[in-house]
Amino acid sequence: SGRLSGKRCFVTAAGQGIGRAAALAMAAEGATVIATDKDAHKVGDLGARGITHVPLDVLDDAAVERVAREAGPIDVLFNCAGFVHQNNVLTCTDEEWDFGFALNVRAMWKVARAFIPGMLERKAGSIINMSSACSSVKGAPNRFLYGTTKAAVVGMTKSIATDYVTQGIRCNCLCPGTVDTPSLHERIAANAAAAGSVEAARAAFVARQAMGRLATPEEMAALVVYLAADESAFVTGQAIVIDGGWTL
Ligand code: NAD
Repeated sequence: SGRLSGKRCFVTAAGQGIGRAAALAMAAEGATVIATDKDAHKVGDLGARGITHVPLDVLDDAAVERVAREAGPIDVLFNCAGFVHQNNVLTCTDEEWDFGFALNVRAMWKVARAFIPGMLERKAGSIINMSSACSSVKGAPNRFLYGTTKAAVVGMTKSIATDYVTQGIRCNCLCPGTVDTPSLHERIAANAAAAGSVEAARAAFVARQAMGRLATPEEMAALVVYLAADESAFVTGQAIVIDGGWTL
């Protein structure tokens, strides 16, 4: 009898980082969880934790529709998949632009579209999108494309929330500061040469956090659980900043 008992939750990019922590936290609160990721091997071990796992590349429209059909009706969608490009208005390439919008924005639309009809039938659902504090909330250095796509996620979230506000479907998004996840380690490694060392690159990420530390994926998962649960029934259309004071 957890906070999510009786709820069926679907998570994209559940293989590592925030998506994985959220899938585990939702299962711990009694939810039935379907964890998906483009890399099947990253979700495979979740079966031992009672979580159904399915490979899904959210860029594949046909696969999104098929996996959603096979999943059946759900109560909660956590649209977590996204990629962090490090570029500025001058260095961003056409390929990066197309990929960033395809993954961070278009795929979110497609996954939501696949599940909303089932939510409408049951007049219930909570859609949780992954944005970032770097979005319409604030700018961050060298995050031109990322901030642009994550601002679009805020707009999409408010749009979905508006259209279904009287039909039992809520839609909110998370706007995190920097979270200690595997992809952050890749960004740190990519910045190591410019920063002088891996340690210096990591210190730069930590230094911009007001609390002097990074967030944990579990701290993000706690907000996902709240937005998934009925206790947040009056919360919709919100871009919730969870950034350790980055925007203070
Ligand atoms: P991550 O970047 O370390 O892992 C991402 C996961 O997504 C991987 O398991 C990968 O296999 C999967 N994935 C990539 N492309 C996919 C696709 N096309 N289809 C399905 N799965 C795919 O995880 P993270 O850092 O927790 O980031 C998750 C989300 O949180 C992203 O949307 C990211 O923009 C957002 N976010 C992260 C931070 C941060 O500091 N880490 C901050 C704010 C927002």
